[in-house]
Amino acid sequence: MAPTIDLEATRRQLATKREELLEGVSRAREMGAVEGEAGVPDIADRATNAFQREFSFSVSENEARMLKLIEEAIKRLENGTYGHCTHCDEPIEQPRLQAIPWARYCISCQEMQDRGEI
Ligand SMILES: [Zn+2]
Repeated sequence: MAPTIDLEATRRQLATKREELLEGVSRAREMGAVEGEAGVPDIADRATNAFQREFSFSVSENEARMLKLIEEAIKRLENGTYGHCTHCDEPIEQPRLQAIPWARYCISCQEMQDRGEI
């Protein structure tokens, strides 16, 4: 398996996905504004951190989380740590990065995270 990742293609892929998500966020905000008038409760107060507070109540937690992962991946591309697991620092398996370019953990660390161990 070739160890090289096409960083430029990955960067474009991440940027495109980020744009898609941000478009979804603004659409959701517009829709949220209309629904808000109909009395949808504002759950922004319940957001647990500043990142979530930046998003309107109508943006799903999933989208917010994915956007955060993508932005972290873009930062890792910029500082040269992209492709390494943020937990054990081992290279992330290439097929995994191709499937999930914003992956933050290698497969074994992801499994640990899924079990709540890290
Ligand atoms: Zn790992």
